[in-house]
Amino acid sequence: MHRNARADLPMDSSPTQTQREKLEAWLRYYNDLNLGAFYTDRRTMGKRTSKRAAESAPAAPSAMQPLPASSSPPPKIAPPVSVLPVVNAASLFEVLDRVEGDTLERTREDLGECTRCKLHRTRNKIVFGQGNPRAELVFVGEGPGHDEDVQGLAFVGRAGKLLTQMIEAMGLTRDAVYICNVVKCRPPENRKPEDDEVATCSPYLYRQLDVIAPKAIVCLGLTAAQALLKTKDSISRFRGEWFDYRGTKLLATYHPAYLLRNPNAKGEVWKDLQKVMVHLGLPLKKLPR
Ligand code: URA
Repeated sequence: MHRNARADLPMDSSPTQTQREKLEAWLRYYNDLNLGAFYTDRRTMGKRTSKRAAESAPAAPSAMQPLPASSSPPPKIAPPVSVLPVVNAASLFEVLDRVEGDTLERTREDLGECTRCKLHRTRNKIVFGQGNPRAELVFVGEGPGHDEDVQGLAFVGRAGKLLTQMIEAMGLTRDAVYICNVVKCRPPENRKPEDDEVATCSPYLYRQLDVIAPKAIVCLGLTAAQALLKTKDSISRFRGEWFDYRGTKLLATYHPAYLLRNPNAKGEVWKDLQKVMVHLGLPLKKLPR
């Protein structure tokens, strides 16, 4: 029997009560996200694009094709990076496009006192993200840790202090950039967020990135890169390469928490950040010893 994967409905019969309930739950969820109805008439979707959508080509989170380098050295031929198979429910924007007139405040309001995934049960504070709403550079981490959960602010613990040093080494301040995470609630024991938690929370991250429309996104660690690039590859395969995320340049580097455990990798991260500095037109400088 053919199945409609999204609603798990058999094609050749009308929905049962449970299937109907499932479908209704999805519709409520999409509505909650304020992304428009699940069944949006695609003929009207052109009207919902934002200023940047009109300028930039791709309508959906991009597949992992490294961007060609803009300056002269011949592009490094990276080994092909695999792309996750299409996951029907993940690529919301492919279907729903962007939220017209969206703002960070509206996104935060829509998130509300979220109980959409199990992380809400153990969290103390939601950590939405903070910084300059018009930042040219956005850092995306994995999810709040203990200190972040207590304070409601992203990257304020040990890893956050290292991130601050990285930002300052670039000649920027935390106030000049925007810092957020894939999941907005602390996973218990700082475990990695699970797929369903990432899937539930990442539409809010997409909205944050759409609203801020930065010049560059830096993914800190694999979870952020996976959420935005839809890959399951290990970060060492594509760290330091530029990718396109909905018309914005995106680069993944190691997470500061990884650097705390592996300080030898700091040099690699600094090289990655220098690429970002070049893209942002920031003066390159030597790291203080
Ligand atoms: N690690 C993260 O990924 N995010 C934070 O906010 C803090 C630590």
